[in-house]
Amino acid sequence: MSTFPRNPDLHCHSTASDGWLPPAEVVRRAHANGVDLLALTDHDTLAGLDEASAEAEVLGVRLVPGVEISVTFASETVHIVGLGVDRHDAALNVGLAALREGRQQRAQRMGEALAGIGLPGVYEGALRFAQNPEMVGRAHLARQIVASGHMPDVGTVFRHYLAKGKPGYVEHRWARLEDAVGWIRGAGGVAVIAHPARYRLDDIGMEHLFDRFVACGGEGVEVVSGAHSDDEVRRYAELARRRGLLASRASDFHGAGESRIDLGACPPLPDGLTPVWTRL
Ligand code: AMP
Ligand code: MN
Ligand code: MN
Ligand code: MN
Repeated sequence: MSTFPRNPDLHCHSTASDGWLPPAEVVRRAHANGVDLLALTDHDTLAGLDEASAEAEVLGVRLVPGVEISVTFASETVHIVGLGVDRHDAALNVGLAALREGRQQRAQRMGEALAGIGLPGVYEGALRFAQNPEMVGRAHLARQIVASGHMPDVGTVFRHYLAKGKPGYVEHRWARLEDAVGWIRGAGGVAVIAHPARYRLDDIGMEHLFDRFVACGGEGVEVVSGAHSDDEVRRYAELARRRGLLASRASDFHGAGESRIDLGACPPLPDGLTPVWTRL
């Protein structure tokens, strides 16, 4: 009987996007926590993968090259994780580059909106929390607002300023679902819906998302996620069984102070599911 992987973790972040740890340190922490199959899935970039792969090789961790792509679906932002992608694939790299360009413009507009309600300099300050300006996102803006002493923690900043409908939020059009899934599949990867319970979709909207996702070649869903309660794990396990989707297990780790669940610390997948790692 196969004992690999003992502790897969297929979604996490490094300083290449909005994680706190450099890619090699993410791999070291995962290894120390007993993770033997790790996907680094930074937002809209593959920039951390070379460093992570090199460290994974040293430590004997199997590293799955991944990405978390920002998508706009029915005016909601949805995240699609790609697992096992070829980091040199041209179409994937072109698509992600376009997303990053939009990301920087969005962050500037959020900075202007925040300045308009009495919080000046947030975009400029956020730049020092990001590795490069085109990766600046809401997490970096939130860290700057915490650093300036306005709010106690990042979660509170999101609730007051950065969640949809709050004064620092600006509407933004990310990739189309079909494009994101197409880039992932074109790069040889498996497309997985990230943390489905976090989307503000009603039951009909959620079924519609999965219909479209499957129709364009999506194959998996994060059943176990650091962002899911036990009830939500059960709900998406049921959905994965019903739709015959591959199931993923993922911490979505960003850093010790900003994540509920550490690398490799998720509960096991519920029974009766086909793990996505059978395809990696
Ligand atoms: P963005 O892609 O720039 O819109 O930022 C999304 C990121 O913000 C997520 O990947 C999380 O890292 C972070 N985030 C979103 N919502 C929250 C929240 N309520 N509390 C803390 N961090 C959050
Ligand atoms: Mn993030
Ligand atoms: Mn996400
Ligand atoms: Mn994530």
